[in-house]
Amino acid sequence: MKLYNTLTRKKEEFKRISDPVRMYVCGVTTYDEPHLGHALATVIFELLQSYLEYRGINVRRVQNFTDVDDKIIDRAAETGVGWYDLTQEHVGTFLEAMDGLNVRRADVHPRVTEEMEPIIELIGKLVESGAAYEAGGSVYYRVRRDEDYGKLSGRTIDHMDELARLEPDLLKENPEDFALWKAQKPGEPYWDSPWGPGRPGWHIECSAMARRYLGDQVDIHGGGLDLVFPHHENEVAQSESATSVVPFARYWVHNGLLRMAGDEKMSKSLGNVVTVRDALKSYSADAIRLWIFQSHYRSPATYDDENLAAAERAVRRLRQAANVTNVGAGAGDRYDANHVRQRFVEAMDDDLNTPRALAAIFDLTREIFTAQSNGVDIADGQGMLRELTGVLGLTLEEPQLGGDADVAEVEAMLAKRESARQERDFATADEIRDQLISMGIEISDTPQGTTWRRV
Ligand SMILES: [Zn+2]
Repeated sequence: MKLYNTLTRKKEEFKRISDPVRMYVCGVTTYDEPHLGHALATVIFELLQSYLEYRGINVRRVQNFTDVDDKIIDRAAETGVGWYDLTQEHVGTFLEAMDGLNVRRADVHPRVTEEMEPIIELIGKLVESGAAYEAGGSVYYRVRRDEDYGKLSGRTIDHMDELARLEPDLLKENPEDFALWKAQKPGEPYWDSPWGPGRPGWHIECSAMARRYLGDQVDIHGGGLDLVFPHHENEVAQSESATSVVPFARYWVHNGLLRMAGDEKMSKSLGNVVTVRDALKSYSADAIRLWIFQSHYRSPATYDDENLAAAERAVRRLRQAANVTNVGAGAGDRYDANHVRQRFVEAMDDDLNTPRALAAIFDLTREIFTAQSNGVDIADGQGMLRELTGVLGLTLEEPQLGGDADVAEVEAMLAKRESARQERDFATADEIRDQLISMGIEISDTPQGTTWRRV
């Protein structure tokens, strides 16, 4: 399998040197509910794990929670909620949202607040070797001492004023140095350390948690493209200085960011956030996942309702193909689906090319319907469809009925109508259509499947 490695700036053959493969993914800062951008990053690295496992490669995935941070402290102060209550509440909303999207939990979800010992130990190592220094109860990393600083992001010393701007601080030896430990400010949460009370800087946390749960080196380090600089650059600097194991991460894999139609970033400050919870009120988990996979993971994905609605229709068609009655069961002619698996694997082996993998799956769907109407045995085709969509984490289950699920209800009725039609039970099919009309739903049958709208 080939993966694009941000460190070398090229697609490289993934060479396994450990079993299981050690994967670290930067997780969320828990001060609010997760939005679709968070879902995108999590689903993509879950897919990378699932696909490697499909190819017979074991993976251990660690994805952290940053549960103490400036944003959390600020939000807690604004809302009058205790910072710890706020942060643990949103560990909960994150896990719940990912469960709703059928994302498998990582093997470990470490929380910064529970990892102080390894974090302080790692900072201690850096201070001891002279890579870091204490000043005024804080600890800073000496960026200029690091000869290969900038190798991941391609930033040179000329860009260092950017770092300085990100972390202005008069105590630093040099403006580009960054904080490993922040001395406590009045009223802020703190932990005791050899440098006095305080809390860790963001970058050191990931270095420490990766080291604790995966060792001095990881095989795949994931995160959004917006984390390359300074977060991941600083992780590289700290980890490699502390352990002398180079490279800290063998493959750096970064996902493109979610954009809104009109090319805006989805962000809290722009006020255009769609939470996972809200998205799941209108669309099935399968549809949201399919929509994510319709863009290559390194390109920006674009959110708009039309894309999501189209994904919902596509999922319905996959579901119909998986469940259509195999009228040719046991017939002499058998549909052979192995060529589709080959196309799927070729696409996914090429840096997780999900749009091409989906094209193979949609061709399979078409072929299943054609073979079915010709009385050919489609058991293998349907098995293959379930196998390949399973790798993508699609359940192909009917959406569940629930309080918010009138969309799901319509989908379920359409699926029933479709199977009635496949069984040539037109009386039932017409009955369901009439029921839908009485609910204010107009349906039209097209060669691409049935579409519906409210009238
Ligand atoms: Zn991180």
